[in-house]
Amino acid sequence: MNGGAVLTLFERVFGHRAGHVSEAHGRVNLIGEYTDLNQGWVLPAVIPQRVRIAIAGTNRGTGQIRAYSTAFDEVVNRTVSDERFGHWSDYVVAGVRQIGMARRADIQVCIDSRIPYGKGLSSSAALLFALIDGCGRILNEARSPTAVALAAQAAENDYLGVPCGIMDPLAIARGATRHALFIDTLTLASDPVPLLRDAALIVVDSGVRRALNDGRYAERRAEFDCARELLGVDSLRDATVSLVESRALPSPYGERALHVVTENARVKASVSALQDNDAETLGALMNESHASQSSHLAISTPDMDALVESALRCGAIGARQTGGGFGGCLVALVRNIDLPRWEEDFLSANGGVEVIAKLGRGAELPLPMPANR
Ligand code: ADP
Ligand code: MG
Repeated sequence: MNGGAVLTLFERVFGHRAGHVSEAHGRVNLIGEYTDLNQGWVLPAVIPQRVRIAIAGTNRGTGQIRAYSTAFDEVVNRTVSDERFGHWSDYVVAGVRQIGMARRADIQVCIDSRIPYGKGLSSSAALLFALIDGCGRILNEARSPTAVALAAQAAENDYLGVPCGIMDPLAIARGATRHALFIDTLTLASDPVPLLRDAALIVVDSGVRRALNDGRYAERRAEFDCARELLGVDSLRDATVSLVESRALPSPYGERALHVVTENARVKASVSALQDNDAETLGALMNESHASQSSHLAISTPDMDALVESALRCGAIGARQTGGGFGGCLVALVRNIDLPRWEEDFLSANGGVEVIAKLGRGAELPLPMPANR
């Protein structure tokens, strides 16, 4: 659905015109899992799929929210002071609450998202980013993309109870076509890094939906905190492998710390590999990352491990589960020349999986995709 179609749909649903259409792309994390929960480094890239939201509103209201989403095909009436109750519209309430004058606003939104949700592609952050950005513009409270990203993270942390990091909304705010984004999640500095010329990152939906607000994020966060205290560092960003090994932390804290320390190093090495157009090294780093998130971080599943192995058997140079874990998507690195054969073999070997995006700089990939801004 393009911007015009979302406007038309808005008018059909609400009987009046929207004032603005906001949009944001989803993202995939190439490498750097759970490092943003430890002020570390990450390397995500935007995907072509996006969410579009048509919005109307006034700041002379009483905090009434009306929301429609094509994904759920229902109009929901909420208020800005509602408690969350596990409904998709909680995300709309969470976003609107980030607007300074939310209590004096009446907002109507019509959402159409092509980002599969609950798969680790940040449908939630994209929705919140587009919503907060759009509401701000409508209510003359516009903010910088970075400020919108911070507000989107706060919406998930504070209202939705998902203690996620800044990676997703920042990747969405700053991501650009044919590039990954190297982010330092402590300083919020970021650099675009060109993707590979002769190999593509294939984003694959495993078919296994995950739920992040079921406590596993919070559990890992608590474990990181404990590891940090045992190591005597302010942040696992400052820890080293030799420090972790010399302290012989009890399980699972030693494993969790080792994942974060080695994953940070892998993110930086992946940036160099991209800069050198070195697919072989990037693939090896992705494989190490998967092994670490499976054994040290314990966020993979036997099904995901089997899919990753299958991707490699079919000829991928590297593969790893991506996102919050316990299912969702995987990302595989495949040489452009091997791509048709790999796709055929991998899809026929694994029922229920779906290719979501192919990212790279190769001319034969179905590109380009637009940048967010
Ligand atoms: P993801 O990895 O996709 O970000 P999350 O569990 O963090 O997964 O967020 C998914 C939630 O975001 C959905 O359960 C729903 O509440 C909300 N959401 C995502 N896409 C839409 C949509 N198109 N319409 C309404 N709500 C959506
Ligand atoms: Mg999410």
